[in-house]
Amino acid sequence: MQIQDLKDAYFGVKSRLKEGVCLVAVSKTKPIAYIERVYECGQRVFGENKALEMRDKYYSLPKDIEWHFIGHLQSNKIKYIAPYVSLIHSVDSLELLKEINKYAIKNSRVIEFLLEIKVAQEESKFGLDIESARQIIKSEDFAKLSNVELRGIMTMASNVEDKEQIREEFRKMRLYFEELKAEFANLAPSFDILSMGMTQDFDIAMEEGANMVRVGSAIFGERNIIGGGAA
Ligand SMILES: *Cc1c(COP(=O)(O)O)cnc(C)c1O
Repeated sequence: MQIQDLKDAYFGVKSRLKEGVCLVAVSKTKPIAYIERVYECGQRVFGENKALEMRDKYYSLPKDIEWHFIGHLQSNKIKYIAPYVSLIHSVDSLELLKEINKYAIKNSRVIEFLLEIKVAQEESKFGLDIESARQIIKSEDFAKLSNVELRGIMTMASNVEDKEQIREEFRKMRLYFEELKAEFANLAPSFDILSMGMTQDFDIAMEEGANMVRVGSAIFGERNIIGGGAA
């Protein structure tokens, strides 16, 4: 994608969004100038999957951008994003959450997060099974974490051609979302985000109830392999 084509690509994606769906523009591996271009079109929510890359972009870009962390997060990298990150999509253990809480306290802020759930059949995907997610939310340890706030769940569907399989996975997520929301109305009162859908499948995800989609290549163009993966 050439920089002069970004505006059309961005508004093309925008025109496909259902009402009320939040678009996370996934800018990982893409240069600052590309993000500025999309920012000028009005986009304020951007997603990154590497802590240091997010930090560098945060310092170079306008401060009204909301930065969403969507990749696998290592405990020793939390410090690079804790002062400003607005939502972490990819929490997959209580240990990680405890560390995030520590850094949130250090920065005198509350960090919002999603639990990453694995519905894809592929072995390679990160994420919790739904029972483990429940156990985390119910745990005494979780109740003690003062500076993190559970906002919902996130998933990545299987990377397959079969649209019906993808739809089934999203449908399952929607059910989990409704179940958890009802079950934990007291423990997680602001549980309201269902983050699913990427370039290949965000239309299906919205049909199945996603209210946040994470779209990269349809806006910014293909990424090269290096640094372009989910991790
Ligand atoms: C890269 C990435 C996306 C965006 O992928 P595209 O196919 O480029 O839209 C969405 N979610 C996660 C977790 C990612 O790592």
